[in-house]
Amino acid sequence: MPQLNENFLKLEKNYLFINIAKKIAAFKESNPEADIIRMGIGDVTLPIAPVVIDAMKKGCDEMGVKETFKGYEDSGAGYDFLREAVSGYYKSFGADVSPDEIRINDGAKADCGNIVDIFGNDNVILVTDPAYPVYVDSNLMCGRKIIYADSNEENGFAAMPDDSVHADIIYLCSPNNPTGSVYTADQLKVWINYAKKNNAIIIYDSAYEAFITEDGIPRSIYCVEGAKEVAIEMCSLSKTAGFTGMRCGYTVIPNDLIVKASDGSDVSVAQLWGRRQGSKFNGVSYPVQCAAAAVFTEEGLKQIHENIDYYQENARIIADTMTELGVKFTGGVNSPYIWFKCPNDMDSWEFFDLMLNKTAVVGTPGSGFGKNGNGWFRLTAFGDRQRTAEAMERFKELVKSI
Ligand code: PLP
Repeated sequence: MPQLNENFLKLEKNYLFINIAKKIAAFKESNPEADIIRMGIGDVTLPIAPVVIDAMKKGCDEMGVKETFKGYEDSGAGYDFLREAVSGYYKSFGADVSPDEIRINDGAKADCGNIVDIFGNDNVILVTDPAYPVYVDSNLMCGRKIIYADSNEENGFAAMPDDSVHADIIYLCSPNNPTGSVYTADQLKVWINYAKKNNAIIIYDSAYEAFITEDGIPRSIYCVEGAKEVAIEMCSLSKTAGFTGMRCGYTVIPNDLIVKASDGSDVSVAQLWGRRQGSKFNGVSYPVQCAAAAVFTEEGLKQIHENIDYYQENARIIADTMTELGVKFTGGVNSPYIWFKCPNDMDSWEFFDLMLNKTAVVGTPGSGFGKNGNGWFRLTAFGDRQRTAEAMERFKELVKSI
């Protein structure tokens, strides 16, 4: 009889959004006429930019012609044209990342989860809480010890390291999902110094970097001096360019990132990850990589920013509603998420049920992202403009009535 990896039995039974979907289904059954507005899952709704779609079609056409047909990609790390485009994009906001430090993937979630493969199970993992659930789940799946750095109201949901505590691998996400908070360069420098002192590696998730609007907020950890010696960065085109259904992202592992093996030899983290990917991943489809490269052209960046601006205007509408009602919140400026304190000190799921039942608006209970999320709630700005405005009218009535 096969033995199970019983670490899986320690996970929450269902991924957060499955629980939410079940509650919506039950509500729908008893309220078939209800006009539900979904502001829960962080999925985009606007179509992909025309210049990106044209590039994908051209890539498809090339696949249908003998001379330009492509089979397996040699390296599996992504075509040079795309890695060069990503490198140019990094340079445009002051991060010196070379094409050979970039690997293309089918979205950031897989790499965020799979990166655990190249690290031993005795590492102490530090996760800021609340957090994107993949960091915790993927480490629990291999039975690792996880410690948490609290992100809370007092520190503006931007946890900082505790020098008295040791960690080997640190997950940071900025702009943050779920809280919408961002780290400044000075704060990132503190984390980099902490990582150096502890011989630790930072796994930096910048999936929402394109939403940063304030000057001086780093778009990449590599905008901060010293990061290339300690940090891996993962980014995605899902939110930047509407690729949630298209699937493309990239992971950066700097050539300077070296870890000592137990025999004292130096090991390149990039090489180890390349070895892992070589065995378990066969690359991203050619047409999708053509589409991704078009994102980073002048016209591509212009077109994707029209969509980002639209979502940011939604975020402003939500944020203004919170301000008007005197509800405490973070996010909404450099992020498509608004993270607010549940009125009347309600518990997150209690507020979820109340909002669903009274207004038919769906959000995400903060407690689903960690203990510091309890009593908080996440709304996304990825919806339709009119529906977002309508949801906020219903929200105002609800908050005024309680
Ligand atoms: N990282 C964060 C913080 C996210 O919120 C998401 C998606 O919601 C991802 C990574 C993964 O995105 P994808 O796999 O679509 O690239």
